[in-house]
Amino acid sequence: MRTEIALLRLLKKIQSLEASRDRLSIAESVVVATLEILDARFALLHGFRATPHGYVTAPLSWAVSEGESATTNLDHLDVEETHLAAEPLLEECALASNGYALIEEDGRCTLAFAIGPVGAPVAVVEVHCDSAPTDALRDCIHELLGIYAEHLGLLDYAELDTLTRLHNRKTFDENFDRFIGMVEQAVQRREGGVSADVIQDRHCWLAVADIDKFKRINDNFGHLFGDEVLIRVADLMKKSFRGSDKLFRFGGEEFVVLLRFISAENAEHVLERFRLAVEEHEFPQVGQVTCSLGYVQIDPLLTPAEILGRADEALYFCKENGRNQVQRYEDLVAQGLIAAPVEAQITNADLQADIDSLFD
Ligand code: GH3
Ligand code: MG
Ligand code: MG
Repeated sequence: MRTEIALLRLLKKIQSLEASRDRLSIAESVVVATLEILDARFALLHGFRATPHGYVTAPLSWAVSEGESATTNLDHLDVEETHLAAEPLLEECALASNGYALIEEDGRCTLAFAIGPVGAPVAVVEVHCDSAPTDALRDCIHELLGIYAEHLGLLDYAELDTLTRLHNRKTFDENFDRFIGMVEQAVQRREGGVSADVIQDRHCWLAVADIDKFKRINDNFGHLFGDEVLIRVADLMKKSFRGSDKLFRFGGEEFVVLLRFISAENAEHVLERFRLAVEEHEFPQVGQVTCSLGYVQIDPLLTPAEILGRADEALYFCKENGRNQVQRYEDLVAQGLIAAPVEAQITNADLQADIDSLFD
């Protein structure tokens, strides 16, 4: 490929990477760019984290070469849980500053590049090539991944809550729309008989979690210990839910969880598991803390505010009935414990008011 064309393509890739705020499509741009720059057969981006029990990795995106173009995993719904004990190659590259290469006897080459601080990467790209790339090309990938890491850092700064590192309130609507988009796509594939992973009785759920009597914790132990409780509750959340579920800190001591495609029984089970994890955790100085959760099935026809409102009603019921419990909106309605939702009815008076407002 002529140098000018290759340069132009690279610049366009960097531009599209920097223009996006959707982490999955950014990840996809990175694997495609890596694949094309190195003329590789296959590139795979892993999320990467060091834990006291070893390294944890999770596939985030991949690209396969198909002649002039690349196929990527558009079906992000298939990305699953993390697994322990990364491959030795990934571990080696986590400590190297400019990637790690393994050359086979037949000349084929597997490379791994770490993304993020040396020794503590946040992601790793694994690349399979037919022959070893030049040092200059490896440097090129190193720089590209540096831009990616910086972009992720800026996104984190704008979108994550600084205390708990969960998504902040500001990003909820956007994340919710994306989540609903995925739900609708999956439902279409289910109806088209394409997807086997989405089984009829699986749904998406929204839960609102609120720490019980949190004001008392602040009053008795001070704000610093209150903050420590918030950080620990957020950590318990990260451990209790899957990587594909979305977690938000919504306000002071209120959290929101979006759960993806699980049965009603499993939704109850995972939320209850989180509630119990909080109840059983020993919080420094404070001792025992409990929380209450209200949740509801996500109906894509409702607005985010309506769905949140329903989960809030279930949460309010918990608060009125002893706290430290999980309640489902639909169950409470079915048992007559809270009022059934009122169907919105557009009256002529509403329509006239809308028309009048056009002329105000
Ligand atoms: P309930 O069981 O009914 O939820 O009672 P509560 O005391 O948890 O509820 P309330 O809403 O009355 O109190 C929430 C408290 O959270 C009040 C506020 O001072 C505290 N808070 C809000 N944001 C923060 C924060 O960032 N750090 C700390 N330490 N406290 C916070
Ligand atoms: Mg509270
Ligand atoms: Mg509250």
